[in-house]
Amino acid sequence: MKTVLSFVVILSLALLTLPVTAQRGKGSGVEIKQLQGPQKPRLGFVIHGGAGVITRGSLTPEREKMYREKLEEAVLAGYKALQSGKSGLDAVEIAIRMLEDSPLFNAGKGAVFTADGKNELDASIMNGKTLAAGAVAGLHHVKNPITLARAVMEKSPHVMMVGDGAEKFAAEQGIQLVDEKYFFTQSRWDALQKVLKEEKEKAAGKKVSSNYAELPYNKFGTVGAIALDKDGNLAAGTSTGGMTNKKYGRVGDSPIIGAGTYANNNSCAVSGTGWGEFFIRLGVARDICSLVEYKEMPLQQAADLVIHKKLQDAGGDGGIIAMDRFGHIVVSFNSEGMYRAYIDANGKPVVEIYKD
Ligand code: ASP
Repeated sequence: MKTVLSFVVILSLALLTLPVTAQRGKGSGVEIKQLQGPQKPRLGFVIHGGAGVITRGSLTPEREKMYREKLEEAVLAGYKALQSGKSGLDAVEIAIRMLEDSPLFNAGKGAVFTADGKNELDASIMNGKTLAAGAVAGLHHVKNPITLARAVMEKSPHVMMVGDGAEKFAAEQGIQLVDEKYFFTQSRWDALQKVLKEEKEKAAGKKVSSNYAELPYNKFGTVGAIALDKDGNLAAGTSTGGMTNKKYGRVGDSPIIGAGTYANNNSCAVSGTGWGEFFIRLGVARDICSLVEYKEMPLQQAADLVIHKKLQDAGGDGGIIAMDRFGHIVVSFNSEGMYRAYIDANGKPVVEIYKD
């Protein structure tokens, strides 16, 4: 009887471990493309500038050059910080601040407009070593929301602050506040006017050709960064103006820890961009890291499963950048394009925009 029992126990244990072993063995047929292998010291840095309908030919050569230059400048700035011994959090903050200051991206200056014509900013940052996190939402005057998110993480007992309270905290911390007009850009204003016009036409029963996510001028443009520093610590951050025509008080995924941003030295770090409501419902960033942590799934496979299967099936679009604790960099998106840049195995910056 005893022998039979131990046999049953052993058999069930073997069956339990089977899916994981099988998974590891066959890799589900997904090609694992590692953009960067571990370096010595094992530093890693990757950024994004938003996902969306960015097809070849949709950008003028001049505009494409501007995007490429700014992405390269920011990825190099973050990487240099890591090389000089700064922490992953420093590198993430440095690069994101540069992208927030650029009118090209939907974060800080250049943020999209809400339905009532305002710029409302969200951001978050996370420390993969301690799981400390800071997030801010609904800001109108903070020049660099990522810096405020970091202050919430490091200088307050809280994880998330919103609206007036968050701005009061910014003032107390000596973080730069600006007039609302600072965030204005004509192209984002024009984008809002177009969306509002389409909405009116829709309400009047006129058939409009494109749905909201497919509007060619709604190119998202959220920014994010992920770093692995000399101490082997991961960090992730994301900053955004949200989505054009968002309603009063709407908060997307970017400042939601586990949805738009996540970092955990035990698994990976992720920064997302795309249709925020779907990222929140699916807990995209944490979901990817959970697959890596619990299923020991390779990061690219985990990212592709969540982005190309779960997000896709749910009807959402967007993408992520991610890095595992060994410094493997991964990109996955189901949109036409995604602004992104990373440091390759030779320490050189690589900038990419399109799918192919
Ligand atoms: N995820 C952002 C949001 O929904 C938008 C974006 O990534 O472009 O607020």
